[in-house]
Amino acid sequence: MNDESVPAAGRDFIRDIIDADLASGRNTSVVTRFPPEPNGYLHLGHAKSICLNFGLAQEFGGRCHLRFDDTNPTKEEQEYIDAIQRDVHWLGFDWGTHLHYASDYFEQLYAWAQHLIRSGKAYVDDQSQDEIRLTRGTLTEPGKNSPFRERTVEENLDLFARMRAGEFPNGARVLRAKIDMASGNINLRDPVLYRILHAHHPRTGNAWNIYPSYDFAHGQSDAIEHITHSICTLEFEDHRPLYDWCLDNLPVPSRPRQYEFARLNVTHTLLSKRVLTELVRGGHVSGWDDPRMPTLAGLQRRGVPAAAVREFVKRIGVAKANSTVDIGMFEFAIRETLNRTAPRRMAVLRPLKVVIENYPDGQSEELDAVNHPDDPSQGSRRIRFGRELYIEGDDFMENPPKKFFRLAPGREVRLRYGYFITCREAVKNAAGEVVELRCTYDPATRGGNAPDGRKVKATIHWVAAADAVPAEVRIYDHLFTAPAPDAGNFAAQINPQSLETLVGCMVEPALAKDNAEGAVQFERQGYFCRDPESTPGKLVFNRTVGLRDTWAKVAAGEGAAAS
Ligand code: ATP
Ligand code: MG
Repeated sequence: MNDESVPAAGRDFIRDIIDADLASGRNTSVVTRFPPEPNGYLHLGHAKSICLNFGLAQEFGGRCHLRFDDTNPTKEEQEYIDAIQRDVHWLGFDWGTHLHYASDYFEQLYAWAQHLIRSGKAYVDDQSQDEIRLTRGTLTEPGKNSPFRERTVEENLDLFARMRAGEFPNGARVLRAKIDMASGNINLRDPVLYRILHAHHPRTGNAWNIYPSYDFAHGQSDAIEHITHSICTLEFEDHRPLYDWCLDNLPVPSRPRQYEFARLNVTHTLLSKRVLTELVRGGHVSGWDDPRMPTLAGLQRRGVPAAAVREFVKRIGVAKANSTVDIGMFEFAIRETLNRTAPRRMAVLRPLKVVIENYPDGQSEELDAVNHPDDPSQGSRRIRFGRELYIEGDDFMENPPKKFFRLAPGREVRLRYGYFITCREAVKNAAGEVVELRCTYDPATRGGNAPDGRKVKATIHWVAAADAVPAEVRIYDHLFTAPAPDAGNFAAQINPQSLETLVGCMVEPALAKDNAEGAVQFERQGYFCRDPESTPGKLVFNRTVGLRDTWAKVAAGEGAAAS
C-alpha cells in the first residue's frame, strides 16, 4: 500500500480536525453516523467506515447513529435492513437508541423543499431525464437553463404538491434546485432534489410518490440528527458544495460538516455492492454469506473474528489518498488473532491409512494433547492411539527429494503427541497408487521422545481410525485471480479454484463435540470453523485461512514450502 499516506496508528486527519473543532469550541461533542443504503449486504469497505464512525464516537465520548439512507425504494429491501444491523452488531458496535431512517424525515424534507421553492431556490422542471442530462453541459461548457426555470412560486408549489399526490407518471417532472447552470461544479447545475417514483417503500409503503435525492436527503438528515462530523468517501468530495448549499439555504437545527476519506480497496477483491449483488444474483457464489465473499456475513461464515477485522482496519488507518491494501495484510491480522485463541485440533484432510504392525489388534490407548501451546488455561484433552491411523497423504513420499523429511520407506518420524513410527512398506493398488502404509512404532517413545536420544526431523499430525469422524472440508482461495480485478468484467476473472471441497476428511472426535461457533486450528493446516450447514450426521468445516501465506510465496517464486 501507499506507505507515506499512512499516519501513526490511531492518528489521522479526521482526528486532527475533531481535536481542532473541540479546541475552538465549534463543537462541544462528537456525533457521527454510519449511513448505509439498504440495497445489499455490508462488505469489508463498509467495515472501515463503521470502525471509523463508531470508533470516533467511542474515543471522543460522543455517539454514532446508524442511519439507513432509504431514499430509493426500487433497490431497497427489509432483508438488507436486518442484515446490516446484524453485521454492525457482529463487528462489535452499537447505536443504542439511535437507529434512524432517512424515510423518518420525508415529511420534514418535503417541507424544506417547499421552503426552497418559496425562497425562489427550487423549481419544478418538466424536462425529461434525457433533456436534463443533455442540457447539463460538460466540464468545459456551461449548461443551459431549463425553459421551466422561471416558473412562479405558486405554480411550483402547486406542481410539487401534485407530484407528491401521485398525479404524474414516473419521470414526468422533477424538483430541481435553482443554483447556477454555469457553475464549474456540475453538481451545482440545478441538481435534482426530488423525482417521481410510484414505488412501494419498505417503511413508508405507498405514502409517497416522490422521493428525495441522496444530495437532498443526506445533509438535512445529518442536521436533524445533530451530526457534527459527516464522514464519507472521496467520491462525495464534489458533492460537498451542494451539501453546504442546502444547509446554508434551509432553516436546519444544526450545521454538520462533511469530510471525505479514501475508500478501502483490497487486492483480489471487489468492494462494490453492485458487483457483489451480481455475484449473488448470477449464482457465481452461494449467497451473500458465501465464505469467499468480502461481505461481513461471508467473513463471519468463513470464521474471521470481528476482532481481526477491527485490527486490520486500525492498521490500515485513514487517509485522503486512495490506495489498495494487500489482502495478505488482512489475512495476517486474521492469523494473528486466531493464533492467540483458537484451540488446536488434529484433522487429516487427504487421509492415507497407516497400519502399525507391532501394535496389538483390538487394543488402544489414550494420549494427552494440549489444547493451546501458549495458553495453559485451555487445558488438554485425551486422544486415542491404536493400530490403525490416518495421516496426511502428502506427508508420505515414496521417493522423497532431498529436503523432504517426513515419512518415506524406512524413515522414522514423530506422531504429534504420540510415538515415533517407521515406515516399513507402502501398499499400492492396481493403479500403482499408494493406498496404505505398513509401519511399526517404538513403544519407548510414548510422549514423543526417544530414551536413547535419537532424533527425528519431522512431526506429523494424525487421527486414530477407531474414532475418527468423517468430515467435509471447504478450502477457499481468493475469489478473483487478478490482484486488481476489473469491476466491469468481473465474471471472467473469478478464480476457478476459489473453492475446493474435500470429502472423506478424518477429524478427531473432539471436533464433532466442540462448540459449533468457535474457530479451531487444524495443526499444520490452518484455521477452520464449522459451517452452519453442518449437521450432527455431516460435519462441514470452512478454512478461514492457512497457516502461511502461500500466495506471497508463489508471488516471490519460492514455490511450495518444504517440510
Ligand atoms: P458500494 O460502493 O459498495 O456500492 P456504497 O458506497 O454505495 O457502497 P453505502 O451503503 O452508500 O454503500 O455506504 C455506506 C457508507 O459506507 C458510506 O459512507 C460509504 O462512503 C462507506 N463505504 C462504502 N464503501 C466503502 C469502502 N470501500 N471503503 C470505505 N468506506 C466505504
Ligand atoms: Mg452509496
